[in-house]
Amino acid sequence: MKKINEDQNRFNDGKKFDVIVDRLEKRGVTLLDIAKVTYDLQKKYVESLTMETCLDHIERVIMKREVQHAILTGIELDRLAEEGLISESLSTILLSDYGLYGIDEILALSIVNVYGSIGLTNFGFVDKTKPGIIGVLDNKKGESKNKCNTFIDDIVGAIAAAAASSIAHRYAETDEIIELYKK
Ligand code: MG
Repeated sequence: MKKINEDQNRFNDGKKFDVIVDRLEKRGVTLLDIAKVTYDLQKKYVESLTMETCLDHIERVIMKREVQHAILTGIELDRLAEEGLISESLSTILLSDYGLYGIDEILALSIVNVYGSIGLTNFGFVDKTKPGIIGVLDNKKGESKNKCNTFIDDIVGAIAAAAASSIAHRYAETDEIIELYKK
């Protein structure tokens, strides 16, 4: 069980942290995959940024109860769609990842909303450019007609974007980031 700030922060749930990591891995996503996206988003603003720092902030994001609920809901809907347990017309919408559905992005916004405007703009950026694991997930949906990654790609993008915002605010008081944001 994860222990980051668990006692100090009532918004955190350390008990569900391991469940979330396990559910993500079952969908082919590791925390390191997400941390790589965060690193690429934030490295130009924090010169001393390391993968360890990115991973630490990914873990902080996933500790939040509200974030955990969004992740659990999205992953479950993808799985139920794959198993044929969702009725029409939602089943076809999810299995085809219909571009005008939009609820996958709305669910993901509930993750970045916790982290302010940098989280929001970073999420829009990764949603369009699909870097790293997000692109891999997006390509996998074409593997078979029963594969559903409609929610997971947005969830992963939102976690990466939220962690990038968390890092930006963590380094906000340092001379290093102030100089870089002036450019
Ligand atoms: Mg999607």
